[in-house]
Amino acid sequence: MWHGRPIWAEIDLDAIRDNVAALKRSLSNGAELMAIVKANAYGHGAIQTARAALAGGATRLGVAAVDEGVELRRAGLNCPILVLGYIPPWEADKVVFHALTPTVNTKQLALALAAASRRRGTTTPVHVKVDTGLGRFGLLPGEALDFVRCLASIPHLQLEGLWTHFATADEADKAFFNQQLETYMLTLRRLEEAGYRFSLRHTANSGATLDSPEAHLDCVRPGIAIYGLYPSNEVRHDVKLRPAMTLKSRVARVRRFPAGAAFGYGRSCIADHPVTAALVPGGYADGVRRSLSNQGEVLVRGRRARILGRVSMDQIIVDVTGIPDVAQDDEVVLLGRQGEEEITADEVAAKAGTINYDVVTGVPHRVPRVYLHEGEVVDVETMVDDGPPGFHWLAGV
Ligand SMILES: *Cc1c(COP(=O)(O)O)cnc(C)c1O
Repeated sequence: MWHGRPIWAEIDLDAIRDNVAALKRSLSNGAELMAIVKANAYGHGAIQTARAALAGGATRLGVAAVDEGVELRRAGLNCPILVLGYIPPWEADKVVFHALTPTVNTKQLALALAAASRRRGTTTPVHVKVDTGLGRFGLLPGEALDFVRCLASIPHLQLEGLWTHFATADEADKAFFNQQLETYMLTLRRLEEAGYRFSLRHTANSGATLDSPEAHLDCVRPGIAIYGLYPSNEVRHDVKLRPAMTLKSRVARVRRFPAGAAFGYGRSCIADHPVTAALVPGGYADGVRRSLSNQGEVLVRGRRARILGRVSMDQIIVDVTGIPDVAQDDEVVLLGRQGEEEITADEVAAKAGTINYDVVTGVPHRVPRVYLHEGEVVDVETMVDDGPPGFHWLAGV
């Protein structure tokens, strides 16, 4: 039994491995799979997730920021790691030193990377992103040829990838998606006709990985799907995915309140009958969305218990009236399964007015991660390294 802080996230590493393997099997053309592990692997823990994804057949990792790549390198991961986001030129030396693969969209960064690569006696593979309609990061299709020509002329840089990102790949209506893919293919063709070759052409996020084989090309880039969640309910669900994160806590106290009692800040909930309330030590600073106030539910003894009043920073109160025998230290599930019941990230997202991505990614550093493999705890990450001498997370003191 876990003997750390009484709110924690269990991460099923086998689910991540199996989700990656299932996605990989579904690729018709033998494309590679780049597991997207940005934002601490959508809250699942970047290092352990990366290892599980590689065990499932991923051959590359993708991150948003240089430091996220550095974290993985420090943990000993040595596969190609692509940085998807904007890199200012002053991060070039870090990129080269850690052998990360940058996405290059400015001449300043290209020159800084070239200088750093020369100093270190190496050549850096680079990817170019084309903005085909997301209106975010990337070169416009009309700018691509001049920029690639410039890149190709700079020593110590090696053109490797050309990529784009979709705005609507998870929607049933594929009209705009098709337009983006067509723009990408046209841009690619124009560059190839000018003599530039890219060994890694990639476009597909989870939505396109599940729905659109024509976008798989040399490599797919799923994020949310490797965590066992679908990017929307409009995409195909033929690839069976298993959610990897369960958020758990324990009852801190059970108390019976008379009618008229009020719960939480602002007294937004006043009991109109006697209520048995359980205090749960997790709040909005632990990823329990404040918008779940007076409407979210948790599982206790296999039954649903509604949140009473506002979600505080560090705790919530739940209604366990009618759930027999609830006691201090009973397990509480805030996200995931308990017995026959399940609270999905999609359910929480719908109540909180957001998306499942935001629900799992929002579980912060303060919440310990407990990693499971074949039902056993294989690793633990907490904001402090360990307990007192002789202490073990599983055995207690
Ligand atoms: C986050 C991200 C992905 C993964 O998206 P999902 O919808 O989670 O699969 C892929 N590519 C890029 C560029 C991203 O930023």
